[in-house]
Amino acid sequence: MGNTNQSSNLYKINDIFYSIQAEGFLSGTPAIFIRFSNCNLRCDFCDTEFLSGIDMNISEILNNIENFQSKFIIFTGGEPLLQDTTELAKILSDKGYKLAVETNGMFKLQHDYFDWITVSPKNDKIKIDECDEVKCVIGIDEIPDSHGIKASHYYISPKNPTHNEDIGTESANFFDTNVAKYCYEYVKKHTKWKLTLQTNKIIGTL
Ligand code: SF4
Repeated sequence: MGNTNQSSNLYKINDIFYSIQAEGFLSGTPAIFIRFSNCNLRCDFCDTEFLSGIDMNISEILNNIENFQSKFIIFTGGEPLLQDTTELAKILSDKGYKLAVETNGMFKLQHDYFDWITVSPKNDKIKIDECDEVKCVIGIDEIPDSHGIKASHYYISPKNPTHNEDIGTESANFFDTNVAKYCYEYVKKHTKWKLTLQTNKIIGTL
């Protein structure tokens, strides 16, 4: 893999950490998270600080993940598809990692290396027609909209109050059972949808 070290491609990375996938079909799966910096949106319920970050080349990213037990990597953000992930994804795939991406769906997929694609649409400017799962974040009295995206699984995730000074939201970050109960009742009446809860918020992990 001589190319790995010679690559000059830099990625702006907010964080790399090892945890479990907290939501959706793969909930509970141990995974390495590569959180890419920045997002094209500023959702008022966003629970992620995505603005900070450092430039990392592929060798540095590989050094950060090599000691984790899992061979499953989730590209998340922010919005990971703001950056061209092709070279990094190819090298990780060649090294035997399985790759997933969590995106707002407003950018086309740049390559075919993702084994699992989650789209969490925030508006109708969607550039991805098909994925593995759609996840809509909704609050009380809101209705999920998959924007015509074909998927094997459709999830709703309760919108929780957040505290994110970087993007201007001010309430406390906690799991709101009232919203979860609204979502619970919603899926019982609209069986296309399944309920997913943010395991990390419930158990207080990353
Ligand atoms: S699209 Fe996702 S990462 Fe971007 S601001 Fe909205 S919730 Fe946050």
